[in-house]
Amino acid sequence: MDSEIELQPLALTGGKQDQQPVIIAGPCSAETEEQVMNTAHALKERGVAIYRAGIWKPRTRPGAFQGVGTRGLPWLQKARQETGMKMAIEVATPGHVEEALAHHIDVVWIGARTTANPFAVEEIARALRGSDIPVLVKNPISPDLSLWMGAVERFHKHGIKRIGAVHRGFSCYSKSQYRNPPQWSIPMQLKEQMPGLPVLHDPSHTAGQRHLVHKTAKKALGMNMDGLMVEVHINPEEALSDSRQQLTPDMFANLMKKLGIRTSPGQTAHPGELQELRKRIDELDDALLNIMSQRMQISQEIGHVKQKHRMGVFQKDRWQKIISQRIARGRQKGMSRRFIESVFENIHQESLFNQESDGSKKQGTPKNQNNQP
Ligand code: PEP
Ligand code: MN
Repeated sequence: MDSEIELQPLALTGGKQDQQPVIIAGPCSAETEEQVMNTAHALKERGVAIYRAGIWKPRTRPGAFQGVGTRGLPWLQKARQETGMKMAIEVATPGHVEEALAHHIDVVWIGARTTANPFAVEEIARALRGSDIPVLVKNPISPDLSLWMGAVERFHKHGIKRIGAVHRGFSCYSKSQYRNPPQWSIPMQLKEQMPGLPVLHDPSHTAGQRHLVHKTAKKALGMNMDGLMVEVHINPEEALSDSRQQLTPDMFANLMKKLGIRTSPGQTAHPGELQELRKRIDELDDALLNIMSQRMQISQEIGHVKQKHRMGVFQKDRWQKIISQRIARGRQKGMSRRFIESVFENIHQESLFNQESDGSKKQGTPKNQNNQP
């Protein structure tokens, strides 16, 4: 059953290169814009870098909440924009893939019911061709290693190189404290058969009840799993799906602490807010450069006038007036004397230098040595 597939690193925050497990957290389902945004901000504050939210929900029976569908995708775009977190959703049809890509979703996962169906997997894999989005493949609902590996191979065959697997436990007919009891030997064999494949654990769907989430998450990390996908809701009691297993953001933070996982708010590479501010700085710097260049041109014209009237390039009174006025004005605007002094000294030096070299070019004489302020 050995499988030689060549994979690239998932390149998600966390993972082997960071010596920290990959952490994905967020609600079972996106329900409202407010719930998506509030949960996202709460998780961002707790150092999460990858946010999950189900948009289309595979429900066992009709009549249950089926997910908000496409109208939830702009909420995730907004969450990404405001928090800088990567957005992960489940896709189960080629149509979902198309919507996910159109809305710049960063990571997709394949649900347990879908992995169990090779036709569906093949269609999704075909729809993903040409995109380099990471794909996480949950185990099929039955404990069938080949079916799980087969799904990974189908994505690989269609050119997807960033693949991970997620162990979320298996359906079971005997009585168990877990909703989907884990069978650790299966993900362990998967790791053996596909050595480059990161295997994460989903303690929420395994446990089915929040008080068991820590136990199975701890076991997973003890078994050297590469990360966790945890369901977290701003108000789990009110959740429209999987209400019993979702954690509050504080419970999540406590879970991370108990597991010894460092999630610091600094983990997010470039929060949207920072990007926005950097864009404004870039624009202002551009405006500053334009203004400085205009100033230099005028100073050159001044140089010509000074030359015409045989005036020295350095005019002490004028310079003293400039520097004292600029310092006063700068201080009114909250800047320090030291800063304003150094900026204007530099500008003035450059102006003098340009006036001198312009003059020396025109007159063919050596530079005047006596005109430094
Ligand atoms: C989910 O992650 O929301 C989900 C439905 O999981 P699974 O496919 O593991 O049941
Ligand atoms: Mn769920």
